[in-house]
Amino acid sequence: MICINGGEGRTVLLTAGTHGDEYEGQIALRRIAHALTQTKVKGRVIILPELNRPAVVAGRRNSPLDGGNLNRLFPGDANSGPTSMIANYVTEVLFPLADYVLDLHSGGSSLDYMPVALAHRGRTPQQAHQIAELLDCFRAPNSILTDGKGGGGATTLYASAVAHGLAALTTELGGGPGVSAAGTDLAEAGIRRVLRQLGIAPEISAPEAKPSRRLRMLPPATTIYSSSHGIFEPLVKVGDRVRSGEPAGYLHPLGRPLDERTELRFNADGFVIFRRFPALAATGDALCGLCAEIEE
Ligand SMILES: [Zn+2]
Repeated sequence: MICINGGEGRTVLLTAGTHGDEYEGQIALRRIAHALTQTKVKGRVIILPELNRPAVVAGRRNSPLDGGNLNRLFPGDANSGPTSMIANYVTEVLFPLADYVLDLHSGGSSLDYMPVALAHRGRTPQQAHQIAELLDCFRAPNSILTDGKGGGGATTLYASAVAHGLAALTTELGGGPGVSAAGTDLAEAGIRRVLRQLGIAPEISAPEAKPSRRLRMLPPATTIYSSSHGIFEPLVKVGDRVRSGEPAGYLHPLGRPLDERTELRFNADGFVIFRRFPALAATGDALCGLCAEIEE
């Protein structure tokens, strides 16, 4: 944990490595920590680039100690396994110190993800305003305000931060088993804009960015899942605009090379927000998910 304290002012909590195999945020937070040692800080920045450290050391999404998925265990429990204890520490010790929370995720080794910032709407008009301000300062290419029901619900770090009255956002920064340079740069630039515009690092350099495209997730029923154990041959890329009825890809059954491949089709219009990375898929694996543009 790195804490950079510049006296009176607001506190930003920056976390990555909540899932150990997502690297863009882990690298971006190292860059930010270095940059903050070279500039004036007004307030406080608390940085944890390897939040679920056992998972980071193992290069895995979940902890090797107890199998825990840290982003499904909030608000945590001090008397449970090590992963839940980390969640409890963040909730009980770090949230009370913070005004703003940014938890950086990417697709990891299994998903390729459209670069997006996600936030819950907030419980009061003032909190909603602060969250909207945070999203606008960060300026990911795409932003999504969620109702908090999908993808882990109230058990995620950022949902728990919002439940504690803080302004919070999370990100998806591309993905794959390696490091996306674009995703890393985007995270660093977004945090620089946040720290500069909130007045916490008023002199830090921060590249300009266009306002985000506003998107909404489509319901889980529009996600395409693998219907059997097989090889997924995708026909679309992340970011592609697709129409209902168009093919998303083929599923080739294992062990039966002369059997018909299964054609998988979209059941809604939208943009591909994520796509599975590994070709080999087991029954029930998510292969493609959709989002849609919000008409202003
Ligand atoms: Zn993640």
